[in-house]
Amino acid sequence: MKKQPKPRVAFFDFTDCEGCQLQFANMGQTLLELTELVDIVNFREIMSEAGQDYDVAIVEGAITTDNDVVRIKKIREKAKVLVTLGACATIAGVNGIKNRRPLEAAKKTVYGEKGALVNTIKAMAVHEVVTVDYAINGCPVYVPEVVAVLKCLLMGKPYVVPNYAVCVECKMNENVCRYEKDQECMGPVTRAGCNSWCINNGNRCYGCRGLVDKPASDAAKDILQKYGLKVEDILNSFTLYNDSMGEKYDQEFK
Ligand code: SF4
Ligand code: SF4
Ligand code: SF4
Repeated sequence: MKKQPKPRVAFFDFTDCEGCQLQFANMGQTLLELTELVDIVNFREIMSEAGQDYDVAIVEGAITTDNDVVRIKKIREKAKVLVTLGACATIAGVNGIKNRRPLEAAKKTVYGEKGALVNTIKAMAVHEVVTVDYAINGCPVYVPEVVAVLKCLLMGKPYVVPNYAVCVECKMNENVCRYEKDQECMGPVTRAGCNSWCINNGNRCYGCRGLVDKPASDAAKDILQKYGLKVEDILNSFTLYNDSMGEKYDQEFK
């Protein structure tokens, strides 16, 4: 029987820190096993070749310039499957901070009077510009979820991103709630899928995976009730991630 050619995978980055690709590059044995199933033709962090013939595009980073818009559209045209990797690509990530102010004001804050010369647009998640087939959330991505998504991709099945709060995973992991320790935590409104990674390691949730679909109704209500919190209180607690948080807040509470 004729052997099927392996899918060719290429990585691309836009506006980001490349930390999610680094997570991928550090997968060790899993990465080696993956290369038995796919041909990686373009991955700047681990190889010097930069092949332009690919079936699967794995895209990291937010879209922040007109050139980015043109480039991601070309990548989409060529790729049979497009995967977004990390918060910058899935929710605009920390880049979304600039969207809270008028663009000209943001440019002036960063570049001073030279800001007018800078080519930049609103920071956008990749799905705001082109169709995305698989999204891997997180800043950085959580490797077990990367593996789960890749398995679905290789089997041609959809990956369903959880739409319940991190608190659900946190309670299953039997963590002491950060609110017990008088610390704020975004877990009640943040989309699960990281197995409450930060709380398991003594930290709190900063909301890097973005919000559950409808925070007002999908938040972990029992936690809110227990600690006398409102969804609005939590949404105002952390503003690192992201622009879409503001939009969801506007849709639900204004
Ligand atoms: S999501 Fe976070 S770790 Fe990943 S590229 Fe963006 S800033 Fe870096
Ligand atoms: S609020 Fe934070 S610490 Fe408390 S249960 Fe939810 S995720 Fe865990
Ligand atoms: S616990 Fe929160 S901040 Fe940490 S990885 Fe999960 S969603 Fe991101």
